[in-house]
Amino acid sequence: MHEECGVFGVFGVENAFETVLTGLSSLQHRGQEGCGVAFTEASGTLSVSKGPGLVSRVFPEGKRHAPSCRCAIGHVRYGTSGGRETENIQPFLFSRHGCRYALAHNGNFVNAEELKGMLGKSGALFLSSSDSEIAGHMIAAEGPGRKGIDEGSVRRALNRIEGAFSLLVLTPDRLYACRDKNGFRPLSVGRLGKGFVVSSETCALRAAGAEFERDVLPGEVIEIGEDGLRSSFYSLDRRNAMCAMEYIYFARPDSDIEGINVHAFREESGKILFEESPVRADLVTGVPDSGLSAAIGFSKASGIPLETALVKNGYVGRTFIQPTQSLREAGVRMKLSAVRSVVQGKSVVVLDDSIVRGTTSRQIARMLREAGATGIHMRITSPPLRHPCFYGIDISSDTELISSRMGAEEVRRCIEVDSLAFLSEEGLLRAGRRTDLCMACFNASYPTVLYSHDPENGKV
Ligand code: AMP
Repeated sequence: MHEECGVFGVFGVENAFETVLTGLSSLQHRGQEGCGVAFTEASGTLSVSKGPGLVSRVFPEGKRHAPSCRCAIGHVRYGTSGGRETENIQPFLFSRHGCRYALAHNGNFVNAEELKGMLGKSGALFLSSSDSEIAGHMIAAEGPGRKGIDEGSVRRALNRIEGAFSLLVLTPDRLYACRDKNGFRPLSVGRLGKGFVVSSETCALRAAGAEFERDVLPGEVIEIGEDGLRSSFYSLDRRNAMCAMEYIYFARPDSDIEGINVHAFREESGKILFEESPVRADLVTGVPDSGLSAAIGFSKASGIPLETALVKNGYVGRTFIQPTQSLREAGVRMKLSAVRSVVQGKSVVVLDDSIVRGTTSRQIARMLREAGATGIHMRITSPPLRHPCFYGIDISSDTELISSRMGAEEVRRCIEVDSLAFLSEEGLLRAGRRTDLCMACFNASYPTVLYSHDPENGKV
């Protein structure tokens, strides 16, 4: 399973259900396959409502049955290899000694197989193929005596899970917001009236009318109750290994991740890319959406005018996970198109966030040439993607990564452009004024042990 999802939680707020839906709509870019909300009913019991598709499809306005509740958590799912099965849609509900709790998770565990084997032996039944269900069982397994679950069970469970998780657990009277000890995925807390909200990205806090309070720290478990927030850490072994692809590609430009605005990060990476790999051309353009901020930076640094040479059809779904190459190519052409009046007779610098298989870049180059461009210079705001990610990004095997098979010159020929340059790892860190990021997909420096995923074990 490889998932890049979004979570949103609300505690102590009137219309919590509606507020979660507002939050999830602002996190929709993190997952479109399915979504759901778990909420505390007036009787104190937890229920869940979920289904496949966009938030607006699963919870259509007008037909929306919005239970009145003050606490709820929600999830948008981006699943690939696990398929679109409804059983993988979150939040998941669990019960321990009659006490229900719900869980929503973004990320991937690297010791999922090991934990699943262990839990299976002690009788746990799995209804989905998702890592997140493992976390729910782990919390139950660590529960105190013949009672429900508490903060200790959450901390003990998390301490045995290795990998990436930004995770919410809702009990009838508590909300736990937890981040893994490497801090791979973002998670922020906001204040809404006298209550609290927790979100994968800060853009959703604002949409819900909340004020940013602070980020959940790596390794932190924030317990939210009627008496306010309580912080503790499940591990002493903590570091800052935020996933670089969150800044490069996944997050919305109006989100701030660990205090750095994503748009500003991308604009700066465009500037640095010009310093590292300058080029002369008639115009600069960005591949919507994530290349747009970088194109602004490249244009400012180079003095080359910024133009809209590519437009995106916002109504087309994801092309990235189409099963065949020809479907992926057709998908890119449906999603993007070149503006002939802008590019005809011009040499163009194109800013994009990454090259995975090379499909998008090659299609863009062909489109621009068909529209009359005389030169195409591709500038990529990430280093070459060479290694699989085990922390929740949808790149599971290095054979599908063009840069793991070819050097930059060969990739340039393959995507049919006149020049190609990637941002350096140092440039990437400099763009965010950071000394630390997880860049394992560029340099194979994995912040965790990989368990059965370790190539030495022959499983990758
Ligand atoms: P490709 O066409 O296979 O080279 O993919 C490159 C495009 O996919 C880039 O323009 C990105 O916008 C997008 N992309 C990069 N990483 C991912 C990912 N993990 N999941 C989905 N799309 C991605």
